[in-house]
Amino acid sequence: DKMNESIKAGKTFFSFEFFPPRTDEGVENLFDRQDRMASFGPTFCDITWGAGGTTADLTLDIAAKMQNMVCVETMMHLTCTNMPQSELESALDKVKSYGIQNILALRGDPPKGQDTFEVVEGGFSCALDLVKYIRNKYGEYFGITVAGYPEAHPDAIVSDAAEMDKIYWNDLHYLKEKIEAGGEVIITQLFYDVDRFVKFVKDCRGLGITVPIVPGIMPIMTYGGFKRMTSFCKTAIPQDISDTLEGIKDNDEAVKAFGIDLGVKMCKRLLEEGTPGLHMYTLNLESAAVGILEQLGLINKKQIARTLPWRPAATSKRQ
Ligand code: FAD
Repeated sequence: DKMNESIKAGKTFFSFEFFPPRTDEGVENLFDRQDRMASFGPTFCDITWGAGGTTADLTLDIAAKMQNMVCVETMMHLTCTNMPQSELESALDKVKSYGIQNILALRGDPPKGQDTFEVVEGGFSCALDLVKYIRNKYGEYFGITVAGYPEAHPDAIVSDAAEMDKIYWNDLHYLKEKIEAGGEVIITQLFYDVDRFVKFVKDCRGLGITVPIVPGIMPIMTYGGFKRMTSFCKTAIPQDISDTLEGIKDNDEAVKAFGIDLGVKMCKRLLEEGTPGLHMYTLNLESAAVGILEQLGLINKKQIARTLPWRPAATSKRQ
């Protein structure tokens, strides 16, 4: 099914994002974890498309198993990086044959070793063209989700405030084009400044973007990981958050606990602001994302009874 139909139903929802592990053992572990996490009732789970298309086959394979063996509504990410139209078509045909109806259509980052995005011969230069292509070729079969950037795309960020404002609004107009071309849901880049997300939603609504805007939540799990990710994405960090983190950076347990507390606080505010659901960037880990959702009352581990007939062992473990 298309997950946007469930989102439109109006109940506060959550979703879990995963990435393709590097080893066979990692992939096996991922399915066990997904099986457990699917039992908590996410509206959908998604799997990323590796930078530069490096994990194309693995992403497709994992997506197929998520949909048909883990039995969770699956969304596959797809990027234009290094993907001529013929390969995009082949990937989309496969996804369709697996019964998956949800695609996150992205431009993608430049391949490793390159600084700027380059269009591969016969390929697309931006997510907008990929959205148009999917709609033209596959009609209404796929529910299409697109990426949104509450702080503008990291490549575009400049220090001059007036220039930045212009870039931010250009970005929003472009986002509107992605919606008009067929995007039905927006998932945002990670952020830690909730005010910026709230402003972004308000600005989108002002421009006439009416689709659900789902915040991407990345719980802080380790100090190093947080630093790496936020510098790569050029994420703005509110002063109180960086002050607290600097004070506890050598204490892994304290960082983890702070990450969960902060996640709960951010999500509470987002839900109060009327956000339809929460998209959790899990980094393939369970405890932070699930811990936050439990504290919000969106997951109740005691009430879980998901039966998968072909996996009696897993089912009985869970009961
Ligand atoms: P686009 O929507 O094409 O936009 C890219 C930038 O170019 C924006 O600043 C946009 O405003 C500007 N732009 C492009 N065309 C125009 C135009 N015609 N007019 C004006 N401005 C234009 N990467 C992966 O490799 N794999 C993944 O699985 C993956 N998943 C992601 C999931 C989410 C929720 C998010 C937010 C990002 C994800 N990314 C992933 C990263 C993403 O691929 C990069 O951020 C990439 O650089 C941009 O992709 P996009 O789809 O946002 O591109």
